[in-house]
Amino acid sequence: PTASTRRPIRELPDELISQIAAGEVVERPASVVRELVDNALDAGAREITVRLSAGGVRLISVEDDGGGIPRDELTVALRRHATSKIASLNELETVGTMGFRGEALAAINAIADLSLLSRAAGAEHAWALDGRTGELRPVARAVGTTLEVRELFYATPARRKFLKTDATELAHCVEAVRRHALARPDVGFSIWHEGKLVEQWRAASGAELQLQRLGDVLGDEFVAQSVAVDRPGGAVRVVGRAGIPDAARSRADQQFFYVNGRFVRDKVLAHAVRSAYEDVLHGQRQPVYVLYLEIDPARVDVNVHPTKIEVRFRDGREVHQAVRHAIEDALAAPRAGDAVNVPA
Ligand code: ADP
Ligand code: MG
Repeated sequence: PTASTRRPIRELPDELISQIAAGEVVERPASVVRELVDNALDAGAREITVRLSAGGVRLISVEDDGGGIPRDELTVALRRHATSKIASLNELETVGTMGFRGEALAAINAIADLSLLSRAAGAEHAWALDGRTGELRPVARAVGTTLEVRELFYATPARRKFLKTDATELAHCVEAVRRHALARPDVGFSIWHEGKLVEQWRAASGAELQLQRLGDVLGDEFVAQSVAVDRPGGAVRVVGRAGIPDAARSRADQQFFYVNGRFVRDKVLAHAVRSAYEDVLHGQRQPVYVLYLEIDPARVDVNVHPTKIEVRFRDGREVHQAVRHAIEDALAAPRAGDAVNVPA
């Protein structure tokens, strides 16, 4: 309607509010995968299985062996702004879980057919909740949770039209799990598509678990052609691996940055990396790296965007310097054995 056909102000119906909000959280199947794997990790899962059909558009199922959800909390889990992860502003400022906004399940439920199966530790059996009807029924399942999401965007055909081919959507889903896998080498991940195993990264343990996982996910070549980054001290710690200049690629497809365990895209961080490689990389060559920044949660705001892929640092300069110097030091003085330390 135009200004001349103005209607009185009304609050939108609840369902429409949810659908509008969902647009911010769920862009494509990979967004759902990311949110569900976040939840599984927050629940303490050691093993996470992702099953997809038609690139995730027809089905996304994420199964975990985490702590589960008690029966009487299943229904509220689907409500907007319902969370078990924070209860006060104070907790928001020091939040250590991946989630805390209580939006994902509500958003997904607004734009797809969702069913939630869960058995809490100590419960006699599992319960299945149908997101559409609200019906609860007893089912058999070990302790843990399975989220099943069918027919994504069935009610919002406009969104559905923006989706790419199944192969492309699948690739985005795999990338979403890959980002988690690089942050959590202690957790096993597998991804199935149309009943076929696409990727499997087994839980690693021991001193070299991080290196082991990097090799499994990015290939032994990544490990062989990168040097250890480890800059302790100060308010900001930077660890991980930075590729040697020779390992640079034409595409920026092996660049992973984590802040307190969360994959992020950030201008300050990207610029710091670029400056560190300035003198050794030329043209459009893209460095490869997996870097983990550890910082006092009070010095970084993760509540910038519903997807939490952006962060805001209290002191951007401090972070920029820490990252830049960490990489420069690593590239300047590779320790003996670093470049040949390929996991068996
Ligand atoms: P958030 O993760 O921000 O709390 P979500 O909408 O993603 O919000 O999830 C709502 C709540 O449902 C969570 O706070 C958690 O208590 C519960 N939940 C969701 N997924 C799982 C899971 N896989 N295992 C255990 N609990 C879960
Ligand atoms: Mg969540």
